[in-house]
Amino acid sequence: MIALLLTAILAKGAEFGPTLEGAVVPAEADGYSPEGGADTASVGCSDQYLENGVQLPDLPLFFTRQTPESEWGTSEMIDAIVSATRHMRWLMPDASPVTIGDISHERGGFQSGHLSHRGGVDADIGIYSTGGKQNLRGFDSLGDNFDVVANWALISAFLDTGNIDFILLDHAHIARLRAYTTKAGLLTVAEAEEIFPLEAHPWDRTGIVRHAPKHDNHMHVRVLCSDGSRSGR
Ligand SMILES: [Zn+2]
Repeated sequence: MIALLLTAILAKGAEFGPTLEGAVVPAEADGYSPEGGADTASVGCSDQYLENGVQLPDLPLFFTRQTPESEWGTSEMIDAIVSATRHMRWLMPDASPVTIGDISHERGGFQSGHLSHRGGVDADIGIYSTGGKQNLRGFDSLGDNFDVVANWALISAFLDTGNIDFILLDHAHIARLRAYTTKAGLLTVAEAEEIFPLEAHPWDRTGIVRHAPKHDNHMHVRVLCSDGSRSGR
């Protein structure tokens, strides 16, 4: 079973290079259009309000919804969650369904307890403790109990959607992921450097997976807009 799993993950790692390129956005695609001159009509989506929001469907085989009334997102957000969690069900059938926390209100706007989560482009996603377990009732601080194999598989599945802007996670978990993926040969050092740069300080906004305080019990996933641009930040 373990050999099978490793084969599957290694196969996934081999696909990683080409799909990663789809997740990297050129600097110009930052909401500014030379023709438009302003960043209103040219912005693909907003991080402040939500238009044409989609509610996360009830798919208990793949994930557990904690707060369905606060789980509205852009179609890219909802598609990314369904796609990544469906992949986990296939890859690790014995793992718990993924716990999904707040995304946004139906029309976005201020959400209590969050600085972001206003435009349907941010979601709080549960991470696995040892044995592929998720707390179905909320987010637990994991400490050393971080299941590096399952969590890398989940992050990798999100990155494979090609629609991820960045992921926030505690730096201790990021260090575990970096060590695991490079030692196991799942990523080259260059790929690891692009995803979780070694020299990045917590206040740097470089790399795809970045440190943020209070993210040792869940990760925060930000998606790109439908046209591949970033929402405001
Ligand atoms: Zn969040």
